[in-house]
Amino acid sequence: MNTAIYLDHNATTYVDPKVVDAMLPYFTEKFANPSSIYSISEEVQADIQTARETIQNLLHAKNGKIIFTGGGSESDNLAIKGYAYANQSKGKHIITSQIEHHAVIHTCEQLEKEGFTVTYVPVDDKGVVKIEELKKAIKQDTILITIMYANNETGVIQPIEEIIKIAHQTKIAVHSDAVQIIGKKEINIETLDIDLLSFSAHKFYGPKGVGGLFVKKGIKINNIIQGGGQEFKLRAGTENTAGIVGTAKALEIAMQNWKEEWDKEKKLRDELEKSLLSLIPESQVNGHLENRLANTLNIIIKYVEGESMLLLLNSNKIYASSGSACTSGSLDPSHVLLAMGIPHEHAHGSLRFSLGKKNTKEDIAKVIEVLPGIINRLRAMSPLYKGGK
Ligand SMILES: *Cc1c(COP(=O)(O)O)cnc(C)c1O
Repeated sequence: MNTAIYLDHNATTYVDPKVVDAMLPYFTEKFANPSSIYSISEEVQADIQTARETIQNLLHAKNGKIIFTGGGSESDNLAIKGYAYANQSKGKHIITSQIEHHAVIHTCEQLEKEGFTVTYVPVDDKGVVKIEELKKAIKQDTILITIMYANNETGVIQPIEEIIKIAHQTKIAVHSDAVQIIGKKEINIETLDIDLLSFSAHKFYGPKGVGGLFVKKGIKINNIIQGGGQEFKLRAGTENTAGIVGTAKALEIAMQNWKEEWDKEKKLRDELEKSLLSLIPESQVNGHLENRLANTLNIIIKYVEGESMLLLLNSNKIYASSGSACTSGSLDPSHVLLAMGIPHEHAHGSLRFSLGKKNTKEDIAKVIEVLPGIINRLRAMSPLYKGGK
């Protein structure tokens, strides 16, 4: 068990034991409904408030409020639908990109069915949103631009500052799905001047099923879940107190030494990248080499199937992920890689390694030792591979 090598932190992380400790009292002693009026409820209510303030301090987000939600997907839905419904009298056009998480893409597609129009801006071959295309997409009735901060598959960081400047020139609001960057890097929401921003606890060693949405002061959104008046009337439902406290604790830990962690993971990632590229012919890195999360390596290995590589890695207790979305039950290659202009047949051979706090030099050495052999085996069976030129 302890020989397993987990390299899929962009999918989810384990919960930090200190976070578990912080959460535990809320399942037993501090179980009261925060909306009740007895004193133990007031205590829990105060703890939620403290968690909210902790997060606002850590994200420099005092120019607005944090709404706790059921995770990244819900935050994206609340931001995009909530803003669209509340502001549709100003216009019904939304701009997003072709590389968004499905929580954003499918939300936009749903709004299209409801009479909104959406432009899906393309990216360049490095996976960066094309600013010129984004500018061209802006119309009289554009109300919202939603572009992710860092891509979950390639790790590529998008030019959010620039996008916000452009959008605000014509009073268009900006939402960013920042799920992959919050907890990995310090983000200053106030300086950014962003209007809406989503994050999710289980991507930074917090619990699953809880996250948040930042809403800047003056930005109007509608609720999308009807019920009680919790979370400033923007998210009905009894608060996930343990989850909320866990989110704040996880972010606190993450921000204590994010830079050291970033540098450490970058060193390991770079070593993995360099070695795989030199040991495996016809392999290439996907995405911008500099503007990228330090923990993410997305690599194409031509003439082999991502799934086959994953299964053989799995039998070596190495857990990674592939761009081909077998998770969604389809064999379509990743929409992100296709948007970058990578041909179907090559996109099928993609692998994503995403590192985390516990990964070591030994983990990386093991992958470097094992993967080239796996590739040789698979390529020997591949009718497409003409052999190591
Ligand atoms: C994981 C992820 C989500 C979804 O978050 P959940 O908390 O799992 O709903 C959304 N966007 C990005 C970029 C992600 O990586």
